[in-house]
Amino acid sequence: MAQQVNVVSREQWGAAPPRKKETLKGFAKKVVIHHTAVQACKDLNECKTQLVSIQRGHMTDKKFDDIGYNFLVAGDGTVFEGRGWGVVGAHAKGNNHDSLGIAFMGNFNNDTPSKEAISSVKQLLQFGVCQSFLDPEFVLFGHRDLGSTECPGDQLYAALPQLRNAK
Ligand SMILES: [Zn+2]
Repeated sequence: MAQQVNVVSREQWGAAPPRKKETLKGFAKKVVIHHTAVQACKDLNECKTQLVSIQRGHMTDKKFDDIGYNFLVAGDGTVFEGRGWGVVGAHAKGNNHDSLGIAFMGNFNNDTPSKEAISSVKQLLQFGVCQSFLDPEFVLFGHRDLGSTECPGDQLYAALPQLRNAK
């Protein structure tokens, strides 16, 4: 039985309301892993501040309807609600309508993702399968598998097989 991972809600981190929200049709068949490519936040308050700024960047500069990702995870393993379950994201062009986007907070070109973050994302994926938000046969990608980007960074990309064992 999958353990439910504790998720810091939008209300808790002070998210602005989305401009609009599109429901995913059926369950997500893909999971796309990203990094935020900014310096890792060190504690809850710093992470909350960073989330507000990421959301602002996505909504203002990129003209997204909301923060792009469905979930984000900090280095200590804390998971933050982005768009959440069952909502179409804006994170991997051409793949947003059948996927779930999860961003590791930090820059993983050189940094290695923490055990805590990996473990939280595994639990989150197991929970998603249990709750039928995710196809039990979902395929996990790094963003670079689906588009021309260095995202999610070499070190996180190298760690993806650990997440594929989540099923
Ligand atoms: Zn990405």
